[in-house]
Amino acid sequence: MKSHYRAVVIGGGVVGASVLYHLAKFGWTDVCLIERSVLTAGSSWHAAGGFHALNADPNIASLQAYTIDLLSEIEQESGQSVGMHMTGGMTLAGTPDRWEWLQSAYRTFQSIGIDDCRLITPQEAGELCPIMSTEGILGGMWADREGYVDTTGTVHAYAGAAKKRGAEVIEHNRVLELHQVEGGWQVVTEKGTIHTEHVVNAAGLWAKQVGRMAGIELPVSPLNHHYLISDTIPELEQLDFEVPMTVDLEGFTYMRQDQKGILLGIYEIDHEHWMVDGAPWEYGFELQQEDPDRIEKELTLGFERYPALQEVGVKTWVNGAFTFAPDGNPLVGPVRGKPGYWCACGVMAGFLQGGGVGKSLAEWMIHGEPEADVFGMDVARFGDYAQNKRFIKETTGQFYTRRFVMTYPNEQLPAGRPLKKAPAYDGMTAAGCRWGANYGLELPLYFAPSEDFVETPTLKRSNAFDIVAAECKAVRENVGLLDISGFSRFEVSGDGAEAWLDKIMASKLPAPGRAKLAPMLGHDGRMKGDLTVFNWGDGTWWIMGSYYLREWHMRWFQDHMGENVTLRDIADATVGFSLSGPNSLKVLEKLTDGPIGDLKFMGCGTFNIGMLRCKVGRLSVAGELGYEIHCSAAEHITLRETLLEAGTEFGMKEVGFNALLSLRLEKSFGIWSAEFTQAYTAGQTGMDRWIDWDKGAFVGRDAALQERDGNGPDQLVATLEIDAADADASGYEPVWNGDQRVGFVTSGGYGHTVGKSLAMAMIDRDAAQEGTSLSVHIVGAARPAKVIAPSPYDPTGTAMRGGS
Ligand SMILES: Cc1cc2nc3c(=O)[nH]c(=O)nc-3n(C[C@H](O)[C@H](O)[C@H](O)COP(=O)(O)OP(=O)(O)OC[C@H]3O[C@@H](n4cnc5c(N)ncnc54)[C@H](O)[C@@H]3O)c2cc1C
Repeated sequence: MKSHYRAVVIGGGVVGASVLYHLAKFGWTDVCLIERSVLTAGSSWHAAGGFHALNADPNIASLQAYTIDLLSEIEQESGQSVGMHMTGGMTLAGTPDRWEWLQSAYRTFQSIGIDDCRLITPQEAGELCPIMSTEGILGGMWADREGYVDTTGTVHAYAGAAKKRGAEVIEHNRVLELHQVEGGWQVVTEKGTIHTEHVVNAAGLWAKQVGRMAGIELPVSPLNHHYLISDTIPELEQLDFEVPMTVDLEGFTYMRQDQKGILLGIYEIDHEHWMVDGAPWEYGFELQQEDPDRIEKELTLGFERYPALQEVGVKTWVNGAFTFAPDGNPLVGPVRGKPGYWCACGVMAGFLQGGGVGKSLAEWMIHGEPEADVFGMDVARFGDYAQNKRFIKETTGQFYTRRFVMTYPNEQLPAGRPLKKAPAYDGMTAAGCRWGANYGLELPLYFAPSEDFVETPTLKRSNAFDIVAAECKAVRENVGLLDISGFSRFEVSGDGAEAWLDKIMASKLPAPGRAKLAPMLGHDGRMKGDLTVFNWGDGTWWIMGSYYLREWHMRWFQDHMGENVTLRDIADATVGFSLSGPNSLKVLEKLTDGPIGDLKFMGCGTFNIGMLRCKVGRLSVAGELGYEIHCSAAEHITLRETLLEAGTEFGMKEVGFNALLSLRLEKSFGIWSAEFTQAYTAGQTGMDRWIDWDKGAFVGRDAALQERDGNGPDQLVATLEIDAADADASGYEPVWNGDQRVGFVTSGGYGHTVGKSLAMAMIDRDAAQEGTSLSVHIVGAARPAKVIAPSPYDPTGTAMRGGS
């Protein structure tokens, strides 16, 4: 062991070994991995080693696909067998809704280029896995590249390949302390102290403690997980092939062959956390006592699905722990305020995802950005609120229990809620508001007409369709009132504020009393934000954006901070309401003595509104005459009451974000995580029209110029009208020109004003011409579609800009 390395990886499980391998592969060979015991001594040794294609987040599914390809590569490089059994795999559906979901998931895979999947009948499933009963199975999805590996062999293959490239592995050496020092970290270990620029927390079951060593409270907890290995099954002895890796979604089990028996893993409905504060340091190659009583229901289903289990005994029980983040995805990336500290933990399927995690993290550390859009596993997708132990327990428990339970797109899950409530929450609830959660905050979805209205979970249009239609109509014809507490707001002030904003935003900055749409770019020209900048004219500026990106944006801002700038996240202290619709000005005129009617489109200023002093901006995501009215949290209830009272005579209706999503689609206004992501450039998304090419240096300028002066992007965002009857596109559905896949839907829904099913889609430039006939798979069924001109509602923008 040396006294200095460029990077130190803490933890010799599959994830740490993969990070080490990728660092060395991408050119950092002065790196080491430190392991408390021996390689694999955490969760990794007792994993079932299975890998499969499905993941609800297509970006993560792509990284899983990368991992599967990588396994044979590391085997070759290291000379260490990974014990690959590429048996193929099946995911089975046992209810009509699930079968529909699987057919739609199959199309999502096509969208992201995973082409080795196909749908299968119950009969085919039975032929592929003769020891399985197909009772109740309606269909399944087959994937060629699924199977299992030898877990210990795989970890050693990653580590061995890394060592061949110059990396070091140091076992039997616990990291005791971490100290942030000038230029990096001091890593105090049992065998001495190391200085390093970068440390990686890949401590798996101990990630919590290794976080705390650096003053970080990670939202992660271990849970116990069972599998059993059966004795030899005579039918399997007769077969000349291995049965495939099989996931029975309605049975809560996964199964693979293990020698001549089977391994049956169970996602327990009655879940059990284990050592929420992290495993004990002395925890070795141990397991928890199995608890068949707790998993009796799932076992019964498993024994029915694989009847041979009723004839043979159980050879081995495994009840071991592995870690989960609240949404079940890994926690990867840099931590704000801790330069050089990187996370690679919370990886609940290390053999499936470890390769992608290692690749993305190594790219991030070496090049400053990962190649893929990894927001879904970025540690900055959670804020401080997620450090709470009860929140962690509730959400990780919910994820675990629902691992194989179907969640509908319109379904709101209860764990960890309600956590943050805007002050007018109770009043809005009494008015029928139905809520969804966003970054811990309750957001209004729509207002139900009666207390007993229950929205049916569905993949198609729900029974809230007419409610949302009525809210859209109120906005288009009268005025809608929407709680806009759920936006991020950053206040920027100080002598250096303007210069700093000018550097990080690609747009021109707004003049005093004006707001401006501001794309923010990464150094490589890909997007970092679709923000709105306000110049209040008194030396203070606001940046407004998506509420759930608060921590993610704050990390970027702080990493690119300027001199003499004061930056404050004021999102929970400052809340507000928006008014949208032709009558919105009339409502405000009743409430203010200020020249609100003079406020031009994208103008902003401070006004008396009733008894309150509010900051007001004239803009509207709905594409109407609209105002966003901001107040302090203490004033939120009064603001709502004031606006409602004044609005009655103008037909005001409270509305939720479901209506806003439909209204903005009719305007072809993109949103983050759909049309705008960190995977796309400004040119691809149309955001380049807001770039100020004449101003001096700004972050991403060179790359954006290169794109502008090159041949242009291969794919563009287009608006589609779809001939759909009972379901709308939602995202990632493939778009076809004949039988050629030309792109995928970024977001979709029903345009209640125009009376059409609409979508925005990232498609090949040639296919994006207006009038092109295409087709889109919606919930698995092909629907005719055509490219239409952007903004099917009010294409000239008269309603929104009127009077300006
Ligand atoms: C029963 C069961 C079945 C599973 N089946 C599958 C499956 O089929 N497929 C799949 O992909 N995943 C499966 N998993 C999950 C898989 O085991 C984990 O995702 C994976 O092992 C996580 O790897 P890791 O490297 O993050 O953590 P770990 O394997 O826990 O490794 C962390 C390492 O860090 C070391 N460490 C911690 N603190 C320190 C310190 N201070 N100093 C030095 N070293 C330290 C530990 O000793 C340990 O070796 C299963 C898990 C269980 C429990």
